[in-house]
Amino acid sequence: MQTGSSTPAFSEAPKEPLQPRRIAVFGSTGSIGTQTLDVIRDNPNLFVASILTAHSNAKLLIEQAILHRPHTVVIVEEQGYADVREALQPLGIAVLSGAAALEEAAGHPGYDLMLAAIVGFAGLKPTLQAITTRRPIALANKETLVVAGDIVMQRAVEGRVPIIPVDSEHSAIFQCLVGETYNRIEKIILTASGGPFFGKKPNFLVNVRKEHALQHPNWNMGAKITIDSATLMNKGLEMIEARWLFNLEPSRIQVVIHPQSIIHSMVQFEDGSIKAQMGLPDMKLPIQYALAYPQRIPNRFPRFDFKRSSTLNFEPPDIRTFQNLALASEAMFKGGNAPAVLNAANEIAVFGFLRNRLGFLDMTDMIERTMAHVPYIEQPTLDDYFESDGEARNFAASLMNM
Ligand code: NAD
Ligand code: MG
Repeated sequence: MQTGSSTPAFSEAPKEPLQPRRIAVFGSTGSIGTQTLDVIRDNPNLFVASILTAHSNAKLLIEQAILHRPHTVVIVEEQGYADVREALQPLGIAVLSGAAALEEAAGHPGYDLMLAAIVGFAGLKPTLQAITTRRPIALANKETLVVAGDIVMQRAVEGRVPIIPVDSEHSAIFQCLVGETYNRIEKIILTASGGPFFGKKPNFLVNVRKEHALQHPNWNMGAKITIDSATLMNKGLEMIEARWLFNLEPSRIQVVIHPQSIIHSMVQFEDGSIKAQMGLPDMKLPIQYALAYPQRIPNRFPRFDFKRSSTLNFEPPDIRTFQNLALASEAMFKGGNAPAVLNAANEIAVFGFLRNRLGFLDMTDMIERTMAHVPYIEQPTLDDYFESDGEARNFAASLMNM
């Protein structure tokens, strides 16, 4: 089937909910997490933050919890546990820590929607737990679908758990598909800004340092996705994310460079008609859409003005220069555990680049070698995905002597 999102939408659609929707913000201290809390703060009648989780930033987690008063917080790294407990337990907030705490919090009945904004593979298990707990998910964590998209979507469909995309491209596609449930998609067109090195060639990229790569022209994001945007791996991950979210054959997914980031993505239907979703680049818009879905709610965000910006450009991506995009596309067509291996190798490569252990172009080399090394599994189980992830990480790390 080529119709829209395959998970069900919210069945009830009250115009004015009687109770605010209780949001569990997983990854609350990150770029998406903090913007989510801004949206919640600006709409106190609609939303309340009921669970917050952070990896290690105890100071910010404490500040957020004092402001939002969730019933539960998680600080994954046990180093921060004592400080967080001392600050928050007197306020009646439960404080969890350690490796299993994220899944425990995701299994808590006291929330209505998970905003999944942990970065990387670490977001997979809590998201699976939310599906088991039958909680709708607003999904920012694209790596969850890159690693195990078939299993995640299958479980979501079986459990009738809606997955509402937060990634701006996928939110755009999701919005274009509203009202199109029975219409066939010919293709989707994912737009990409091109990142800070748009138009550059390998002789330039070979000397790029992290300080350059961390400057994104249009979006202000966490470090990992900013590097992924500079290498175009982000767009590759998004192709795989789209494949599972919208249940599409890989051949129906196209990428186009659009430097202004005004069109956030497009859907072409079988009559050739193309729908686009547009606006200024601001992640708060897809976050707010996912939190309030199926409603739209007013805001004071700046508006796009056709009188001021008259040019929108488009061109094909340069995959000979930005080979990570080609590798991700190859992994998508190959299927099986290939995207999980690609993702794990990429996480290690970005980690190495951010610590000046690896050059910009060496990241591609590391991913390619890891994909060639880890044995292919055509129909992986969830355990196979976890094992492939571990194996790919170990091999990629060994290439840097980590
Ligand atoms: P970030 O690095 O700013 O924040 C990551 C969050 O995850 C933090 O709260 C951190 O504490 C937590 N975290 C990190 N490692 C963890 C671990 N091992 N266990 C538990 N928690 C951990 O990242 P971000 O930019 O907010 O991105 C979050 C996710 O959203 C990513 O998957 C990214 O691809 C996606 N996304 C981000 C943007 C954006 O504009 N930032 C846009 C689209 C999609
Ligand atoms: Mg995106």
